[in-house]
Amino acid sequence: MKWTFSGAKTFLRCPRSWTFGLIANANAKDPLRHEAHILRQLTTPLGWLGNLVHSSIVQWGIPEIRQEGNMQADAIIEKTIALAERQEAFSRAHRYRTVSKSRSNGNFLALDLHERGEDLSSVEKETIRARIKYAFENLTKINEVTGLIHRSRTLWTERRFVWKFNGNQIEVKPDLLLIDNSGRPILIDWKVRDTDTPTAILQLGTYGLIITESGSIGKIRSEFFRLLEVNLLKGYLIEHQATKEMFDRADDYIFRTLDGMHRTLGELTINEINPWMVETTQYATRCIKCQFRSLCGKGEYYERRNIQPRLL
Ligand code: SF4
Repeated sequence: MKWTFSGAKTFLRCPRSWTFGLIANANAKDPLRHEAHILRQLTTPLGWLGNLVHSSIVQWGIPEIRQEGNMQADAIIEKTIALAERQEAFSRAHRYRTVSKSRSNGNFLALDLHERGEDLSSVEKETIRARIKYAFENLTKINEVTGLIHRSRTLWTERRFVWKFNGNQIEVKPDLLLIDNSGRPILIDWKVRDTDTPTAILQLGTYGLIITESGSIGKIRSEFFRLLEVNLLKGYLIEHQATKEMFDRADDYIFRTLDGMHRTLGELTINEINPWMVETTQYATRCIKCQFRSLCGKGEYYERRNIQPRLL
C-alpha cells in the first residue's frame, strides 16, 4: 500500500473519494478509470493559488535567493501572473480533458468551476493576482527564511522520501528541506492561506518522522529537526517544537490511517475495487467540494439543490 499525507487526509474525509483516486489512470481503457483520472486533477481556485506560488518558488524564487541572498519580488510576481493567465485560458478551454500535464508546457490547469461550466469572476481573478503579489512580497521580508535558503549547506525542493515498512510504501515530498552549516535538518512548509492559525504541525511532524525512518539523510533523531511553517499570505513564520510527543502523534496518524486503508480494500486489487461499495462521508460540505461528485452521484444530489462552493 502506498501512503501519502494528502492520501491519508482524503481517506479520512471520505473513503470513497480516496478509492476514486486509487482507480484513476490516464492510460486505462476502462472509461470510468480514465474519467476518474481527469476528475482527480480538478482543483479549486484556492488550491490553484497554492500550486502557482509553490511552483514559482521552486522554479524562480529559490534559485535566485540561493544565489543572491534574496529575490526581486516584482519580476517573480510578473512571471507568476503571466503563468496564471496562461493556465486559466488552458482550463477555461477544457484542454485538461485532451492535453496531459507533461505536454502542456507548464500551462496545465483543471479548475473545478470550469468543469461545472462556470467561470472565475473579475473579483476572483483580481483576488488571485493580489494574493500572488502579497505572497512574494512577504517572502522577501522573512529574512530568517531567505537567509537559511541562501546559507544552507544542502537544499532539496519537493524531493520524495520513502519509508518502506511491512510491504507499505510511506512517502512524503516536503516543500523544502535544508541542511544548515551545523548539519541540522530544517523542514519548511509554505502555506498560502488567509489564516492566523498554524495548520502544518502534524504535517511537519509526519515529514520529520518519515525522513528519519527512510534513512535518506543519514542517522538522525527526529527531535533534531527544525520545523518551520511559513504563511506567505499573512507573512509569518512559526517554528514548531520537534518533540517526542509530536512524533508519537505522527506515528499514530500514519498507522491509524494505513490500517483503515487496508481494512477498506481487504485483498482487492486495483481492478477489483468498486468505489460505490465503499463508505462515504456524512458531510454535505465535503461532497460539494469533491472533484469526484459527478461520478459518485452523492455530490450531484447537492448540486441539484444548488449548493455551490466559491472558495475565494
Ligand atoms: S461526492 Fe461525497 S460521498 Fe461521493 S466521493 Fe465525493 S465526498 Fe465522497
